Amino acid sequence: MLSGWREVTARRPWRISAKLLVVSSVVTVIGFSAICVNVMLDMRRGEEALARQTLENLATSIESDISRNIEIYDLSLKAVASNMLLPEIATVSKSIRHLILFDHATTARHFGAIQVYDADGKLTIDASTLDPAPENRGDEDYFRAHRDNPDAGLFISRPMLFRGAYAVVLSRRISDAEGGFLGVVAGSIRFSYFHELFERLNLDPDDTITVLRRDRTIMMRRPFDLDIIGRSLNYRDDWKADNLRVGASYSGRGPVDAIPRLYARSGDSGPLFVVAGKPLSSVLALWHKEALRIGAVVLALALFMLVSTIVLAREIGRRAEAERKLEEMATTDALTGLRNRRKFDHMIDLEWRRAMRQKTPVALLMIDADHFKAYNDTFGHQAGDQVLVGIAICISDSVRRAGDCAARYGGEEFAVLLPNTSAVDAFKVAETIRGKVQGWSDDGATSTVSCGIASLVPAAGMDCSILITAADKALYAAKAGGRNQSVVASIPKLSLVA
Ligand code: GH3
Ligand code: MG
Ligand code: MG
Repeated sequence: MLSGWREVTARRPWRISAKLLVVSSVVTVIGFSAICVNVMLDMRRGEEALARQTLENLATSIESDISRNIEIYDLSLKAVASNMLLPEIATVSKSIRHLILFDHATTARHFGAIQVYDADGKLTIDASTLDPAPENRGDEDYFRAHRDNPDAGLFISRPMLFRGAYAVVLSRRISDAEGGFLGVVAGSIRFSYFHELFERLNLDPDDTITVLRRDRTIMMRRPFDLDIIGRSLNYRDDWKADNLRVGASYSGRGPVDAIPRLYARSGDSGPLFVVAGKPLSSVLALWHKEALRIGAVVLALALFMLVSTIVLAREIGRRAEAERKLEEMATTDALTGLRNRRKFDHMIDLEWRRAMRQKTPVALLMIDADHFKAYNDTFGHQAGDQVLVGIAICISDSVRRAGDCAARYGGEEFAVLLPNTSAVDAFKVAETIRGKVQGWSDDGATSTVSCGIASLVPAAGMDCSILITAADKALYAAKAGGRNQSVVASIPKLSLVA
């Protein structure tokens, strides 16, 4: 009988399994999602790094083209500045002077003719003509820069309208042997140079190329907009040196439109530097597509897993509940709702061994309805059943401690197991039950019970049948003593019985 009970209890971990299943699949989903997010972020970083590298290379190659041209042009300016100091220059004819000064001068398409201005800003020599029209540039920035600063070197002006075309003026100071100011030699690079340079590149419409002077004045920009040429970006915190230092990149709004871009700049070897920008949407377009595709698959898998887990967990829960109900049915007396004999046998075995280990007393009450046969005969079997239910209620009301076990032992007999309870305390419980049953009446007929009480500390080798027999004997004594009373079994006698 007990082995069947153990089978039932052995299958209990079902409920724990449902929780474990939910926890493990939630952990799996979270872990899996975290890995996916990490991989996606890595991919994104990879895309950004690749774009940054491409932009940096683009900016650097544009910058080196510009630097190379400026360098070549500057060589011509330097040559003119030094040749102007030759004493023969003042004595030779205009055409010979032209040959001496501008023989090696760059005459490429986008470069303006070189001019020489004297210390007052008056145009004295022009590479494009032997007889230049009178002109004074004394008020221009580039003129004043050289007049006021002997160490200005190659001065690159802000973009300006110069001789009928938008251009950047490049100039150098002409100084005498003592460093005295003799004038300025100037030339220009037209915007057409930059336009042609940018046209050669295969760029998207929203890609930007910005050419800046060291003081962050915009010299040229693609897409071209005359309004922003010459504007200084010094006011912009996000385009300050830290964000646009060599080798660094910056993501965010640019100086002109609201499109967020990834910007990377060229090296700083030349007098100008270049910043190339690409809209973040196109940098991350592929990644976005991939992220959406993988995200959707992962989400679908996670949902599938969670839904399956919920369905499984509910099924496990439903089975566990059915099992619990079955278990309860298998251990409950149908009429009284108390524990049945099967459960009682299991509990007394359990408590007996526990009491043996802990050396504590275990008490047993055997309760039997008095003259129950007569009651049945008088009031009928159904009324008798009601009395049994009533007695069970009285017992349950009196036995409330966790670990106590009240059971229907058989017919009109009940057993109450009270672990860790002395005979004196067990007697009090028995008397409470007896008093309650006596006080409870049905159609004027009074029912009573007799109680046999036994309590002992199990010694090694003792069997629990000793306790049952002792309580039974005490019950017999209570019946013999006139019924409706409680009798405690005497332990010395018990030993004799044992
Ligand atoms: P005593 O005071 O000596 O215990 O007298 P008694 O009549 O109670 O004892 P006895 O053993 O002679 O009779 C027990 C009766 O209990 C017999 C049976 O009809 C009745 N009985 C046993 N089980 C049930 C039950 O489930 N329902 C009802 N109504 N009666 C039951
Ligand atoms: Mg009886
Ligand atoms: Mg009986």
